[in-house]
Amino acid sequence: MNSFPVKTSARFEMIDITKQVRDIILETGAGSGLCHVFVPHTTAAVTINENADPDVPRDIISILDRLIPLHGPYRHGEGNSAAHVKASMMGASETVLFENGQLVLGTWQSIFFCEFDGPRMRNVFVKVIAAP
Ligand code: ZN
Repeated sequence: MNSFPVKTSARFEMIDITKQVRDIILETGAGSGLCHVFVPHTTAAVTINENADPDVPRDIISILDRLIPLHGPYRHGEGNSAAHVKASMMGASETVLFENGQLVLGTWQSIFFCEFDGPRMRNVFVKVIAAP
């Protein structure tokens, strides 16, 4: 299994990690298969969405914050319940196909690491499964 660190710099942030994932696939030398991207955190997530207009991730962060406000009422004593809920809504993993060593993504798609309780040092795990 491969991994790489992600340093987040804000409480809420979406960071394009497509290049790091692509580089891991190239390092394995696998031609085609599945690439599983997993975030081992309870207040962060991974998602695939548009990379061309930076307002798209901004809008995603904004609507999540309106749906799940920072301040509750919540029961969880750590004070970051909103981040836990957002992380579950967005999900801890994505699986992406790759062919000829290249991720099979739409023209405007990127893989984003989603920070909901930053800034922090985070990790992303990647498993590359070669398959014809
Ligand atoms: Zn917590």
